[in-house]
Amino acid sequence: MNIKTGGCTEDCSYCAQSTRYQKGTGVEAKRVETVESVLEAARIAKENGSTRFCMGAAWRDMRGRKNSLRNIKDMVSGVRGMGMEVCVTLGMIDEAQARELKEAGLTAYNHNLDTSREFYPSVISTRSYDERLKTLGHVRDAGINVCSGGILGLGETSEDRIGLLHTASTLPAHPESFPVNALVPIKGTPLGDRKPVEFTSMLRTIAAARVTMPATIIRIAAGRKTMTDEQQALCFMAGANAIFTGEKMLTTECNGWDEDAALFGRWGLEPMKSFQKSKSPELQPQA
Ligand code: SAM
Ligand code: SF4
Repeated sequence: MNIKTGGCTEDCSYCAQSTRYQKGTGVEAKRVETVESVLEAARIAKENGSTRFCMGAAWRDMRGRKNSLRNIKDMVSGVRGMGMEVCVTLGMIDEAQARELKEAGLTAYNHNLDTSREFYPSVISTRSYDERLKTLGHVRDAGINVCSGGILGLGETSEDRIGLLHTASTLPAHPESFPVNALVPIKGTPLGDRKPVEFTSMLRTIAAARVTMPATIIRIAAGRKTMTDEQQALCFMAGANAIFTGEKMLTTECNGWDEDAALFGRWGLEPMKSFQKSKSPELQPQA
């Protein structure tokens, strides 16, 4: 769920929510959703089979956002009270903010590396790769699971995709969750006219992520809407073991719960329960 849409000061060249591209994308900045509306959405997600509720906000960071952080902590503890895992992605955070989110019961914090260190400046110029890594450090040190993955189809090379995987798999601990996004070209953004990434690059990135991070949950994220059943099945066989499902994924289309339940039925897949790790104890994220 997008709990705060648009109005972001960063210049991520794929993103509809940056104020820099607002004229072209038409995405208006909205206020933060109320705690009640977010918890209502979480209840609907749980009724439809979601096991983790992810909340995204279009901010660079949380400086000076004390009230918003208080409300988000209420959202976090409210979702946990429903017996669901809960993840937020709020931009860069500091040590104290990470600790507060942990105390509120946060399961995971999403902050994607997106691509290789070398290619990152071609995609985003308003923050550095090391600032990204610093937030991942605060998240890890606070004892919150790290959710950090990438986005393919930015114009990166396969060396860049290897660079992304190398950075993620050589962090002090493997991320608990590694989302793999295929660029959804959004009109009005600098990458609005890019051709979608070849499916084989998506598949090989998932397979390489599975080999290098054996216990990490690999989530097929944005772009799954454009995949056939068979392509999604290939992603699962290559090692993906989670999906984003629901009405929207921030500002991009998402496969709905009914569509995904039917897909799982056809392929004999069943979701793990909330807080259930892999069945084999040796497959726990390594330090
Ligand atoms: N504002 C927060 C941040 O930037 O970390 C969270 C917003 S959202 C979770 C950020 C991620 O969504 C990006 O790192 C990117 O991987 C993905 N994303 C954003 N726009 C996308 C698009 N048009 N196509 C595919 N993935 C996209
Ligand atoms: Fe802002 Fe996040 Fe979009 Fe970048 S991806 S412009 S940080 S909302």
